Amino acid sequence: MKLGIEGKWALVCAASKGLGKGCAKALVMEGVNVVITARGDEALQATATELRALNPNVQVVTVTGDITLPEGRASALAAAPHIDILVNNAGGPPPGDFRNWSRDDWIKAVDANMLTPIDLIKSVIDGMCERSFGRIVNITSAAVKAPIDTLGLSNGARSGLTGFVAGLARQPQVAGKNVTINGLLPGPFDTERLQTMIAAWAKRDGKTYEELAAVRAKTVPARRFGNADEFGATCAFLCSVHAGYITGQNVLMDGGSFPGTF
Ligand code: NAP
Repeated sequence: MKLGIEGKWALVCAASKGLGKGCAKALVMEGVNVVITARGDEALQATATELRALNPNVQVVTVTGDITLPEGRASALAAAPHIDILVNNAGGPPPGDFRNWSRDDWIKAVDANMLTPIDLIKSVIDGMCERSFGRIVNITSAAVKAPIDTLGLSNGARSGLTGFVAGLARQPQVAGKNVTINGLLPGPFDTERLQTMIAAWAKRDGKTYEELAAVRAKTVPARRFGNADEFGATCAFLCSVHAGYITGQNVLMDGGSFPGTF
């Protein structure tokens, strides 16, 4: 299936590794020009080289910076002529016990995982409406649907974003202009973030990485972790011309872990 988005411009935030990179790859393979961001320049340039090799006909622009800071967002937005597709992403907040979190910890999480995506949406949505095409995908977490007790900062901040977007996506002046906003909710995906967490649990429990990874994967009905390419393919479909009637939704990708009928 051709996705019909060749020649569009996408901003994919936090995309040198993991899920963001998976989304950038899928979009580039569909002929979309991309601006990709990350704080570390070395991995970002390596990813850009990989993306250019995947499709030499697209433009791949890199912006090194922190997307949770106003200057990081300004540079990212300035790097494209306009934005047709926005993939919101950033690092997730750390786990812990809420008794130990200060106001600053909360502000940091809300800033990164709620206010940053909202600010980027604010910057691009009117242009999308004027051009009668826009696709916004917010990478959040399965924790929005089924909270994880140790990830309270993530549960809280991402639910705030999800609630805000639920209202915005349904405004006729947005949905009626062929501009869609959806959440993409990862369960466990085999990225550096998950690998780091498994390595820490293995160290804590005196087990090997392989033992702990196998135990964790067994808790997923699919009996494996997701991979960034399949995440990216779903993201690209949500950004396609075919997905214009899907908006305000939260698409869970968790290998069947969520136990509900809906
Ligand atoms: P990852 O493999 O660690 O990759 C994170 C990417 O984001 C890197 O390219 C990183 O590059 C970039 N990044 C992080 N903070 C940034 C910032 N402030 N500004 C710009 N770039 C930034 O992580 P991932 O697994 O893809 O996770 C992506 C998001 O999905 C996170 O919010 C995570 O919490 C969430 N999530 C992941 C899983 C999972 O199983 N993987 C499950 C649920 C939710 P730099 O470090 O160089 O900036």
